Amino acid sequence: MSKAEYDVIIVGGGPAGMTAGLYASRARLKSLLLEKMIMGGQMMTTTLVENWPGYPGGIDGPELMARFREHCVEFGLETDTGTVEKIIDNGDTKTLIVDGEEMTCKAVILATGAIPRKLGIEGEEALVGKGVSYCATCDGAFFREVPIAVIGGGDTAVEEALFLTRFASKVILVHRRDQLRATQILQDRALANEKIEIAWNSVVDSFESDNSGLTGAVLKDTQTGETRNIEIQGMFVAVGVTPTTGFIKDLVELTEDGYVKAGEDTKTNVPGIYVAGDNRTTILRQVSTAVGDGAVAALMAERHITELDQQK
Ligand code: NAP
Repeated sequence: MSKAEYDVIIVGGGPAGMTAGLYASRARLKSLLLEKMIMGGQMMTTTLVENWPGYPGGIDGPELMARFREHCVEFGLETDTGTVEKIIDNGDTKTLIVDGEEMTCKAVILATGAIPRKLGIEGEEALVGKGVSYCATCDGAFFREVPIAVIGGGDTAVEEALFLTRFASKVILVHRRDQLRATQILQDRALANEKIEIAWNSVVDSFESDNSGLTGAVLKDTQTGETRNIEIQGMFVAVGVTPTTGFIKDLVELTEDGYVKAGEDTKTNVPGIYVAGDNRTTILRQVSTAVGDGAVAALMAERHITELDQQK
């Protein structure tokens, strides 16, 4: 078996991965963090993070992530861009296929996070970039003084609806129940905002569009089945997330929803493979919980490597 090039390889550069990298580097483990695109994960498309302790008044997601990155690199964490296609468990070492090339390590921390879920309605894909978006911070400014809708009732949907009131003439928040899931403080703000209208007990039934893009949608009442048309030029879909775990479905145990099964110790069913952040089975998915996971995963990896080294 080939000698491991790294002690730990961390897959994913969001808050969980970067914290794992910080702790692993401080523990003097030879560590590499691989990120598919841009370091920072979902926080890069988040406007204001209000519940990260130490920043009264909040801090912008990208700014917070830039600080995370600077901090972990300060302790010697190596970072690189690459897509991990497969991970092979050889027992004491793990092989990662990264853009077709092999890399080896003694422990892997899976911090691949999650991506926005689609509505799954006909025509959705064709309208992406022509009115349908999954990121208010990225696309909100394109919708100045026009009516738009946000779909969902969670923290993301309500935060996005509030943010979008800066641009849109009206924001229709479409939620499938008669009660929002979002944190109470966000609910209070949404209910008090004159630009936000809530379409309760409603789901999107279909899209309406012309050559220029989205022009409206048909909403269906989840109680009565009645439909009604709304005129909108933009629709921001915020109906939750899907964990990025497709490439490891044959490696570690997943739930039906695709989350990696692991408890607070971040251990998967495979020794030497740990999971941290939004892709793990957990009751809360926040920057604070991702950070906690990253720290624990790095400690678990360190202990695993020490045990391996003692067996030699
Ligand atoms: P979420 O909490 O899972 O909420 C998804 C929302 O979309 C729910 O209201 C759900 O309705 C609705 N929904 C799901 N599938 C739908 C469908 N097919 N059609 C219509 N509506 C649908 O997802 P999220 O808001 O993206 O948040 C993800 C995680 O990140 C959560 O843990 C959240 O707390 C966290 N987060 C935190 C903050 C913050 O702390 N500032 C900000 C953003 C996100 P039901 O309510 O009926 O299930």
